Amino acid sequence: MRENTTLYIDGTWTEPVEGSVLELTHPADGNVTGRVALAGAADVDRAVTAAARAFTTYSRTSPAERIALLERVLSEFDRRTEDLAQAVTEEMGAPLSLARGAHVPSGRMQIVTAIEVLKEYVFEESRNGTAIRHEPAGVAGLITPWNFPVLQVAGKTASALAAGCPVVLKPSELTPYSAAVFAEIMDAADVPAGVFNLVYGDGATAGTALSSHPGVDVVSFTGSLASAAKVSVAAAPTMKRVHTELGGKSPHVLLPDADFAIAVATVHQWMMAMTGQLCSAPTRTLVPRARLEEFLSVLVPSLEALRVGDPRSTETSMGPLVSEKQWQIVQGYIREGMAAGARLVTGGPGKPEGLESGHFVRPTVFADVDNTMVIAREEIFGPVMSVIAYDTVDEAVAIANDTPYGLAAYVVGADLDRAKAVAARVRAGAVLVNDAELDWTAPWGGYKQSGNGREFGVDGMSGFLETKVVHGG
Ligand code: NAD
Repeated sequence: MRENTTLYIDGTWTEPVEGSVLELTHPADGNVTGRVALAGAADVDRAVTAAARAFTTYSRTSPAERIALLERVLSEFDRRTEDLAQAVTEEMGAPLSLARGAHVPSGRMQIVTAIEVLKEYVFEESRNGTAIRHEPAGVAGLITPWNFPVLQVAGKTASALAAGCPVVLKPSELTPYSAAVFAEIMDAADVPAGVFNLVYGDGATAGTALSSHPGVDVVSFTGSLASAAKVSVAAAPTMKRVHTELGGKSPHVLLPDADFAIAVATVHQWMMAMTGQLCSAPTRTLVPRARLEEFLSVLVPSLEALRVGDPRSTETSMGPLVSEKQWQIVQGYIREGMAAGARLVTGGPGKPEGLESGHFVRPTVFADVDNTMVIAREEIFGPVMSVIAYDTVDEAVAIANDTPYGLAAYVVGADLDRAKAVAARVRAGAVLVNDAELDWTAPWGGYKQSGNGREFGVDGMSGFLETKVVHGG
């Protein structure tokens, strides 16, 4: 049992002064795994006050001092990687192999990147006798989702601390276990009191308190569009800067000369491994009409061979969804696709046999999907693919861009120049061509309703900086 009922404020673990406690269950079997505090506005206020006090000294530290601090964090992080992986598997049901191989290393990479960015960044320059300085923007409020918890928590924290901003972190109420280990890492790394604060809580109470708090200067939010709109409204009266990293309905464009082995590997890596719970999942696969059945004949057997099961087993390649609520939402979309007349090729409603006690879903593929259908327009956040046939490459590009989102896109084609030309026409923050690996040090973010601003890398840190010009300086 994990007891996450104290908050980390001003360098110590402290009882919340108000709020309630939420019981958490394992996504794979429903057994109670622990409890988390749901703190209130008074606790958020204590954390923001501590961060504001720490700002006075922390904002004046040199890049070299902040590099030394992040190097201590990295070395403590490296001592706790297995604890982080176990926490992620327990709280959100990611297969242990994925937690060890992707969740934890991607978070680590953000700390490494922040150190590298700090080594290179020019905080002060002079142009025609005018000094231009990039200074810490103030106290940062970080609000993170449950689906990639270590990456989000480590990435936002490392960027803010690199910039010289103390943080108040409010992780998802569903994933406090990895956030608790992260706070222990910060404590062990001797991060000065008030520079890193952790407040557990839900969105409506703690999230709103953080977004609206006049002592917070920047909010960095990752989550759903609906919550981001509320955060932006809550932040508006105090004009604080708000960065949003939101959802997607990413197109996966298979060009006429596409290698389907590459396309299917992408589906497994970027969608099924995470049970579809990835903002950048390739959920709309666009296939040349003449090759549609050929594609399905390669895709479907590979999905039916997936080992869906308990994420604690290293044999498992696809775990459960995070919660009963998400399971119900995904079931609703599967029924919606069937009712709309899309062709159910594999999967479908209900749970896989023998897995009735967890939030398990069958890997599901709909073909003959029209891009106007609800299953092609809304983010499902489950292992449900829409396969859409196209006749010309121009039509494929038009369908790819016909979405309110613009987070990621995938283009597969044997002729690399043509594939890159299509990548250039897609309106999305990240495009992966063929079997390219994602560069975790590069900026990340979306076009359109997938958010604003960029995180990670140099853009991530500069999001926490203000620019001051000293004329005559
Ligand atoms: P969510 O919006 O329900 O919650 C995200 C965070 O916001 C949580 O900490 C939650 O407590 C908080 N929150 C909720 N309502 C709030 C409010 N009114 N005020 C302040 N905070 C509030 O999202 P989720 O279900 O945790 O995550 C899934 C979503 O996140 C998906 O849409 C996914 O695409 C998106 N996501 C985007 C990225 C990206 O990089 N673009 C990465 C991961 C997830």
